[in-house]
Amino acid sequence: MTLGKKSAQIERSGKTFIHLMTAAVANGTEDIYRNNNEEEENERKMKSKMVPFPHLKDISTYEPTTFQYNPGEAHPQPIKKRDWIRVFRMALPEFTKRARMDASVEDSEAKSEVFRVQFEKYLDDLNENEDEKMNVIHMCRFRDECLRRLGFYDCFGTVKREENVKALEALPRVLEKLDEENAGILELVKGVFAGNIFDLGAAASQALFSSSANKEGEGEDDIAKSFFETRDTKTDVFVVNDFDALKERWSDATRVHKKCCIFVDNAGADVILGVLPLARAMLKRGTKVVLCANDVPSINDITIKELEDLVFPTLLRMNDKDNVFKNAIESKQFACIGSGSDLPVIDLREISESCANECLDCDLVVLIGMGRGIETNLRAEFNIDRINLGMVKHKEVAQLLGGPLYSCVCAFTAGAKTT
Ligand code: MG
Repeated sequence: MTLGKKSAQIERSGKTFIHLMTAAVANGTEDIYRNNNEEEENERKMKSKMVPFPHLKDISTYEPTTFQYNPGEAHPQPIKKRDWIRVFRMALPEFTKRARMDASVEDSEAKSEVFRVQFEKYLDDLNENEDEKMNVIHMCRFRDECLRRLGFYDCFGTVKREENVKALEALPRVLEKLDEENAGILELVKGVFAGNIFDLGAAASQALFSSSANKEGEGEDDIAKSFFETRDTKTDVFVVNDFDALKERWSDATRVHKKCCIFVDNAGADVILGVLPLARAMLKRGTKVVLCANDVPSINDITIKELEDLVFPTLLRMNDKDNVFKNAIESKQFACIGSGSDLPVIDLREISESCANECLDCDLVVLIGMGRGIETNLRAEFNIDRINLGMVKHKEVAQLLGGPLYSCVCAFTAGAKTT
C-alpha cells in the first residue's frame, strides 16, 4: 500500500484506526505469531481434551498435509512457498470484506483494516524468512487467530445463516427429485461436488458465489434447479478417481457399513444439498451416520451449533418421503457432534474426545471438501474404509493433482480391518 493511501485510510477511520495500528505495531506482528501460537494452542487444548481419530492406521507416520508447503527450489514439486502465499493473499480481500461487514464488532471497519495489515505482514514475512514449520494448517490458524483477537469470532456468520436457510428451503425439492431419478452413488457423489462449490475461503469460488448471489428473488425451486444444473454440467472431471472401487464397495449389499462418520465442510448448499442426501441414502440402507462439525467458526464452515440449532430441528420437521431424517434422528441413527476443530482443515491427531468416542464403532469415514478431504487428509491411511470427496478450487492444487480447476476428488480406500 502506498503511504498516500494509508494516510487517507487513517484519516477516514479516525482515532480508532490510529490507536489500533499503534497497538499492532507496538506488539510487533512477528511477536504475535511467534509467541501467541503456543499460548493459544495450550489454551485450546485445555478447554477440550484433544485425542487422535481412533482409526488412523499409524499415528507416528500420519502427516496432516498432502502437499509440501516449503519444498525449496531444487525440489521437483512445481508449487513453491511463494505460490501458497499467493493463494492466501488472493483470498484476503474476501476475509477483510466480511470482517468489515461484521455488525457484531464495534469499529469493524478500522479493525478489519488492522486484520488486513497484520495478515499481509505475516505473508510478507513468510515470503522473506525461511520458516520450516510453514504449512496450510499454520497459515489458516494464524489468519483465524488474527481475526479472533480483533473480536471477529464469526464474521461469515450472516452469510452462513442466509445460505443455510435458503438451502434448507430447497432441500425437500432436491430430495424429491433425487427420489424420482432413483439416484445412485454416482449422482449422490456428484451432488456433494456440486454443493462443495460454495466456499468463501477460496478466491475462485468467491467470484462464482458473488455472481450467483446477485440473482434476485431466487426461490427454492430455482436453487434446486441450479443445484442439479451444477451437478449435471460441472462435476464430470475426476482428478482423483477411485469411483469404480467405491461403487463396487457400495453395491455389496452383504456388507453395508454399520456406522459412518462424515467430517463436513461448508454451510449452506455444501452440507445441506450435497452431504445430507448422501447421509440420507446411507440411513435408508441401515447405516448409522454422525456428522462431525467444527466447534469454533472458521470461514464459512458449518459449526456444530448451526447443525444443532437450525439444521437438525428443520430436518425433524421436514416431511421427506418416509420421514427418513425424522425417524433416524429420533432413533439416534443420525446425529451430529463437535469435532473439536477451530480450523477449515483438520489434523486428525487432535479431535475432541467426545468425537473420537462417537467414531469408535465406525467402519467408514468420509472427509468432505478441499481443506479436510484434499489439502490435509488425501494421503492419510485408515484402518477402516474411507472416502474423500471435494472439488478443487485452487489452481495450484489442481496442478499438483494433474487436473483442471474445478475438477473433483473421489478417493476411496478399503480399510485393513474392513476387507
Ligand atoms: Mg470450508
